[in-house]
This record gives sequence, structure tokens and C-alpha cells, in this order.
Amino acid sequence: MTGRILVVDDVATNRIVMKVKLASACYDVDQADCGAAALFAARQLLPDLILLDVLMPDMSGLDVCRQLKSDADTADIPVILITALADRESKMAGLEAGADDFLTKPVDEVTLLARVRSLLRARDTARELRRRGEPALGFAEATSGYGAPEKPGRIALIAPGPKGAVLWKTALDDRLGGEVSILPRDAALTGFGADDTDAPDIFVIAADLSQRNEGLRLLSDLRSRPGTRNAASIMILPEGDSERAAIALDLGAHDILYDSFDAQELALRIRAQMVRKRQADRLRASVEAGLEMAVTDSLTGLHNRRYAMFQLDRMIAQAGRGVAVMLLDIDHFKRINDTHGHPVGDKVLNLVARRLRAELRSTDLIARIGGEEFMVALAESDRAVALECAERLRVAISDQKLSVGGETPPLRVTISIGLALSAPGSGETAQSLIDRADVALYGAKSHGRDQVTVAPRSAA
Ligand code: GH3
Ligand code: MG
Ligand code: MG
Repeated sequence: MTGRILVVDDVATNRIVMKVKLASACYDVDQADCGAAALFAARQLLPDLILLDVLMPDMSGLDVCRQLKSDADTADIPVILITALADRESKMAGLEAGADDFLTKPVDEVTLLARVRSLLRARDTARELRRRGEPALGFAEATSGYGAPEKPGRIALIAPGPKGAVLWKTALDDRLGGEVSILPRDAALTGFGADDTDAPDIFVIAADLSQRNEGLRLLSDLRSRPGTRNAASIMILPEGDSERAAIALDLGAHDILYDSFDAQELALRIRAQMVRKRQADRLRASVEAGLEMAVTDSLTGLHNRRYAMFQLDRMIAQAGRGVAVMLLDIDHFKRINDTHGHPVGDKVLNLVARRLRAELRSTDLIARIGGEEFMVALAESDRAVALECAERLRVAISDQKLSVGGETPPLRVTISIGLALSAPGSGETAQSLIDRADVALYGAKSHGRDQVTVAPRSAA
């Protein structure tokens, strides 16, 4: 993994020592020698990570961190504070300032590099999601609704025995708004399926459960299962166990806490992870919305033309199966627009789409492929069955007037349908099948509309 790391320290030797450690792990290192230079470099270079000294002559690293976190351009850059001050107050102040971690000089190299890897990995994931979700981001935010109350976060504690777990829970209940629950190891593994909305947002896991390292193994398991893969995890380790801390981070733990049991520190770390988890959830939702949008016609919710053509090609390619394709076009639709206005026209399109959909099986393909033109494809080459289906669709529209609402009286709407069938193994393409259906549709229109016309058998 490569990455660009900004090292901030007022003492040149410290910067050089750090640079050597990082360069040997193949990171690109930039340096800044004071707080002001750090802020400038962070905004100019947008590094992937910042290692930030706390005590500097011009300003405190905590202030630098606060400023970075309050600037939208730099807020997402992970920050590790590095300090000679090992006291609890400084540490809490660092975490409160938004730092992702707090390491004490002399910095243990193994822990440092594992922490760097873990933060860069999280940042890569967020970037990748953002890249894929960008076009749809506005859309997802619009649909999730600004100001809608967020669900309280769910935190699951997995501890070696009930006593420790209850202690954690009590301490956290006082400090966090979310739901904190104690979970047995097995329930964490089996309790949550894919898309389970009850799955915890954050697992807090002790490294050792009933057996040594069982918590570490559980962590890998949770990361590999669909229901819990996207949860954040915080691993609790015995004080000073930096070796296993590094392992936990490499296994995918998002954060580490040493078991001096400091409830305030745990609460701060949980809160930070919750913010990141929420961001990632939103990004994931926007990526999904983007995928959805790419294949959906927004007016009717049916598939769009692009998707329909892609699927039709696949249906035809499936060996040994013939396909029936219908093109359905609303008759004299222009008159509806002209008489009742465009919004009523839209309503009609919507209602027609709904009636057509209701007549079809979930395995049939239906799409809106033009203004008032729909396509239906049946993985069913039998001419009689396809014809019966087309007739059923025609009647479903013409049989009952459409109630468009408002002042407009119910409207009688009809459709014309052109049907073309490909024989199994005929070698016909999606386009040639549609072209034949189009000719048949033209025939239905010229013979008086509100009818089904079948294309002659393919010459191919
Ligand atoms: P025909 O029976 O021959 O199909 O006549 P028609 O009036 O249905 O066909 P024509 O192609 O002349 O007109 C189609 C009309 O559909 C013209 C266009 O303004 C309208 N239209 C296309 N897309 C939309 C849409 O999304 N919403 C609305 N309300 N109208 C649309
Ligand atoms: Mg029409
Ligand atoms: Mg038309």
C-alpha cells in the first residue's frame, strides 16, 4: 500500500527518524516544522495521513488537529498525534480534538506501521466508495432526507465473562446515546444475515475470550460475513500488548484500546468510529442508489432502455431458448398531452406501466424504452403463449379507464402491440428482434390501433 504521509515535528531529528521508518515501508514522506507550516502543507498536499507532534513552539498540535478537522477539505485526513506526554488528560484532549490515535514517544515502530496501514486502508475504502458514489451522491442525500433523525447507533460488547461485560455496559450507557448490548460470541457470528438492519454498527471485542486470541479470530470471522462485514470494530487488549495490537489492526480492527479500562476513552473512540461508520453507510447507500438509477426509468420505476437491451441480449444468448419480444405503444398519446397537459400524460404513463407490470411474471422483462413506448420480453418462445400474453396486456389497458386523479375524468387509453418471436438457436440479435417487432407495431397502428400484430417468422 502506498500513501503520502505528512510528518509534523519542530525537532528535525524526530522528523528524520520518523521519515526513515516510513520510507522503509515505502511511504512518501513530506515534512513540516511547525503548526502553521503543517496547516499549509495539509491544504496544499492533501496527504493521506498526518503524524502530528503535540508540543510545538508556534501552536499546539491539538489546535492544528482541531483546525484540520473543522475544514471540509482536510477533515477526512486521518491524524495520529505523537507526544511525549503520556498522561490521560492529554490523551483525552487529543481524541476530543478529533485525532484518530494518540501515540507516545518513543513510538513503537510495529504499532505505528500497523496503525498507519489500518488508517490508510479505511481511507482507501472511503475514497473508492466516494469515487463510485459521486454521481449519485446528491440523489442519495435527497432521498435519505436532511434532518431525519438518525437511528441510534448499535454497539455490541463481546467480553470474556459477564462481569466485565456488565462493567463496560454500565460505563458506556452513561456516556453514549446509542444502544449498548452484551453479545455472546456465537450470537455475533450467527445472529446477523446479509442486509440485516439490526446488525451492530460497532463491535467492541476483547482479544481473549474463553480462549486466548479467540476475540482476534472472531474479528476475522465478522469481517468475512456479509451481515457484519461493514461494522466497525474496536479490539480491547491487555495493557502494553502492542504486538497483538498490530495483528488486530492488520486483521481489520478499526481501533485499539488497552484494557486499563477507561470508559471515557472507550466512549470517545466509539463515537469517532460511529461517525466514520455513518459516513461509509451513506456512501454505500449512494453507490447502490447510483446503480439503481443507472438501470431504472425514473418516471415509471420500470427498467430503462439501456438495461432492457443488455438483458434482452443475455436472454437471447441463453442457449436453447427462444424469446418473445413485444413493443407496446400508447395510441394517440399526443392527444392526451394536448388535451389534459403534460403532467396528466406522465400520470397515464405511470398507470399504464403499473398495469402492464401487474400482468407479468417477475421473470419477464419489462422496460420503458421511449416516451410512450414499452418493451416486454418473455423467455418463452411458444407463439400461442406469447400471443395470449400480448392480448392480455392489450385488454388490461383498454378494458378499464385510467383514473388520473384531480379534475380530469377517467381516461380511456389503448395500446398497440407488435410481437416478434425468435426461434431457439436462430442466431437472431436483440436489435433484429426489436426491428421486426417494430414493423409489426407499425402494422397494428395502420390497421386501426388497439390491437396485437405478430411479425412474420424471421428469414434468418
Ligand atoms: P400513435 O398512436 O401513432 O402512437 O400516436 P401518438 O400520439 O401516441 O404518437 P406520437 O409519437 O405522435 O406522440 C408521442 C407523444 O408522447 C409526443 C411526446 O410529446 C409525448 N411524450 C414523450 N415522452 C413523454 C413523457 O415522458 N411524458 C409525457 N407526458 N409525454 C411524453
Ligand atoms: Mg403512441
Ligand atoms: Mg410513438
